Amino acid sequence: MSNAKEDRKDEVAELALRRGFLWQSFEIYGGAAGFYDYGPLGALLKRGVEAEWRRFYCIGEGFYEIEATTIAPRDIFEASGHLKSFADMAVACKSCKTFFRVDEGINIGKRCPECGGELVDAGEFNLMFQTKIGVPKGERDESAQKKSEGYLRPETAQGIFINFPRLLRFNRDKLPLGIIQIGKAYRNEISPRKSLIRLREFTMAEAEIFVDPREKDRHPKFDTVKDRAMRLVPGEGEETEMSVEAAVKSGIITNEYLGYHVAKVGEFLERIGIPKDKLRFRQHRKDEMAHYARDCWDAEFLSERYGWMEIVGVADRGDYDLSVHASFSNTDMSVHAQSDTEQEKLIPHVIEPSFGIDRIIYALLESSLYKEQVGKEKRKVLRFKKEIAPIKAAVFPLLNRDELKEKAKEVFQKLREESIFVEYDASGSIGRRYRRQDEIGTPYCITIDYDTLEDDTVTVRERDTMEQVRVPIAEVKDVLLL
Ligand SMILES: [Zn+2]
Repeated sequence: MSNAKEDRKDEVAELALRRGFLWQSFEIYGGAAGFYDYGPLGALLKRGVEAEWRRFYCIGEGFYEIEATTIAPRDIFEASGHLKSFADMAVACKSCKTFFRVDEGINIGKRCPECGGELVDAGEFNLMFQTKIGVPKGERDESAQKKSEGYLRPETAQGIFINFPRLLRFNRDKLPLGIIQIGKAYRNEISPRKSLIRLREFTMAEAEIFVDPREKDRHPKFDTVKDRAMRLVPGEGEETEMSVEAAVKSGIITNEYLGYHVAKVGEFLERIGIPKDKLRFRQHRKDEMAHYARDCWDAEFLSERYGWMEIVGVADRGDYDLSVHASFSNTDMSVHAQSDTEQEKLIPHVIEPSFGIDRIIYALLESSLYKEQVGKEKRKVLRFKKEIAPIKAAVFPLLNRDELKEKAKEVFQKLREESIFVEYDASGSIGRRYRRQDEIGTPYCITIDYDTLEDDTVTVRERDTMEQVRVPIAEVKDVLLL
């Protein structure tokens, strides 16, 4: 790890901490690995990303959102396969007894990252968080105990699958049907050490698209994405760049429906500000595919700190989920479909884009941070797109004088009444106030001076170019919303 990279990572973490984006949870009690809290600006940034995501899938794709519980009884995860298969391999250090998750950096043959001791195989660890639902009936009654077993969900998807019969009726028994959900999920990770990358409690945004399996080879809107150039790493083979259409036609991506959603994920990530040159799609190899997946592509972000990291997974889950829930719950999960000659029953297939919101937030923080020398000073800027910037604009009186402050507060109030989230700041020099807003990614600063009192115009400064224009107060909101 070069010093420059180390500095960069510290810089992102330091800024996120100091400016109120991200804090270690339970800090005053010493913290706990794998948990982070979003501070005021972090929460605003996250809400902004989630709002764009909802807009993209609900309005853009016509999907509906539901909100299912985060705790579920044992049966659900017995059926879904999570109790059996949702596990990571672990190794343990012979000297300090610490457990580690097996990955590229840690396995038998490597030394303990904590103390340098010998690492030995520690078997599989299930990643589900277990809890009790209510008070089990007799302590010695094993089946009552089992019945009261509950688990925190490891993904939001199951809440959608188990509601499928009602969702289908809601959709007047028609396919395709797209349902989304945003919410917390939990994984009891063995050794979370990478800030927002591997969390024990995290936010997922998932879309489950139920589709007639006979129609997976044609997506009605494929033409709108087919020319999108993608950087692809096939499961077996070299990295390559090609259009989505070429990837589907050559069979690298297994069907058009999946190809369409891989392309849409790329479109969304670029829309919120993930740079295209730091983005690629990598196909899972057969041996790393999840137990439910037929084909799976990860959108990966090139982090200066962590290398390529997964931020979204797009999977073809086939009929796995609906079939297992149909059989475990004894519920009909099939759809009546009309073929040429007769009505037949079929189990829909599921295409699933699954977004790790916290990792996306990290990717945005890291890739937005920009530094430049301005005169004698270094200017630090978070170049957020204005759709997701936590603060949309800041209003300053040029000087700390009552008549300017009064006018500035008036402008500030007016913008709030337009539902624009703006800050008011009168403390310190104007240069210091600009620097603070640059650092938290505020796209515009609005300054009220003595001319404002004469002609009702203000100076609007744009964050990235630092260009200043004079704008009538009545038109400021149009500038901010452009
Ligand atoms: Zn050790």
